[in-house]
Amino acid sequence: MTVTESVTKSTHTRSDVEFGRAEARTAHNYHPLPVVVAHAEGAWMTDVDGTRFLDLLAGYSALNFGHSHPRLIGAAHAQLDKLTLTSRAFVHDQFADFTAKLGDLCGKDLVLPMNTGAEAVETAIKVARKWGYQVKGVPADQATIIVASGNFHGRTTTIVGFSDDEEARADFGPFAPGFTTVPYGDLAALEAAIDENTVAVLIEPIQGEGGVVIPPEGYLKGIREVCTRENVLFAADEIQAGLGRTGRTFACDHEDVVPDIYVLGKALGGGVVPVSAIVANRDVLGVLQPGQHGSTFGGNALACAVGSEVVDMLATGDFQKRADELSTLLRERLEAMIGHGVVAVRVRGLWAGVDIDPSVGTGREVCERLMARGVLAKDTHGSTIRLAPPLVISPEDLAWGLDQLAEVVAGS
Ligand SMILES: *Cc1c(COP(=O)(O)O)cnc(C)c1O
Repeated sequence: MTVTESVTKSTHTRSDVEFGRAEARTAHNYHPLPVVVAHAEGAWMTDVDGTRFLDLLAGYSALNFGHSHPRLIGAAHAQLDKLTLTSRAFVHDQFADFTAKLGDLCGKDLVLPMNTGAEAVETAIKVARKWGYQVKGVPADQATIIVASGNFHGRTTTIVGFSDDEEARADFGPFAPGFTTVPYGDLAALEAAIDENTVAVLIEPIQGEGGVVIPPEGYLKGIREVCTRENVLFAADEIQAGLGRTGRTFACDHEDVVPDIYVLGKALGGGVVPVSAIVANRDVLGVLQPGQHGSTFGGNALACAVGSEVVDMLATGDFQKRADELSTLLRERLEAMIGHGVVAVRVRGLWAGVDIDPSVGTGREVCERLMARGVLAKDTHGSTIRLAPPLVISPEDLAWGLDQLAEVVAGS
């Protein structure tokens, strides 16, 4: 049916019509569920017809604090009336607080704010290479960075060049050299791949897009030890795993590991504006001089005002504690589904990868059935569903959402 036909058919909801219009004029680089959201608060979204949906994705963790958190919306409103952007050519009055607070949260000297996650990853790559040439003494253009199989670090040409997801790579080459891939979770392979030209290990402490893949206990600690011994920077991509999601401020905290470079994004913008950053000590981030790197919107006044509020909220530890407490409910309910339409589950904090029994249907089909019951979730890699509810979700709502999943996968 064409879009015009659907408009004239009265049996169609406003959601159907708006969905058709949205799809008609965009590149099909996404395959969204057929829902059109108009309003949201906390863990609940309301579509253009007034139907409510429980959000179990939270914008891939960009909405850790839920939709329209009053503190974040308040900070944004207040800043909008004063100043939004100066560019980094001039300093604004929100910059110092944001960088100081975020640096303190990470226990590091310096912060380099950017906008999107991919931009922060690119920044980490550039800084690691410059550090390699200027501090470590790697010969010109010989620097290598070790990455893991199954990684997801963003969508720029450099980043997809070291992805092993064919869908993300195909027909986008030629790609930048200088990356070595080792199997995720295999410390011996990582150690063996390091040579005198290795400048960094870039790893997700938990692979989010990969399906919430948790590495074996001791892996992050091992990377820390190897990197220190071999004079290699440990860059942790905490864009999805960090900022409360796993029940700790950073996923690396679970192994008491401090990387050399934190790569942050998603929740740093409070679900309001894109805010990303890399955070490191002066011996690393100090290699950058004026003119060598930048981004027009990076560290703008609105972003810093919202980001400061995010850091203040995390500094109390309340959100981390909540994720940790709700984790038990999430784990118990999901583990009870194993053998009843679910093959395996991986849970850390308020974050789960759920492998669906292929006989139940694809991950996408399960998500469509969940949507029909008022629950929104997202599949990844065919048969896995990723659950990342806003950390503000109530235990009752979480339990209700998981009841819907249990019934869907059990085929009832
Ligand atoms: C989402 C994500 C990115 C990319 O962030 P964008 O803001 O989409 O560019 C990078 N790394 C990880 C681990 C992510 O989850």
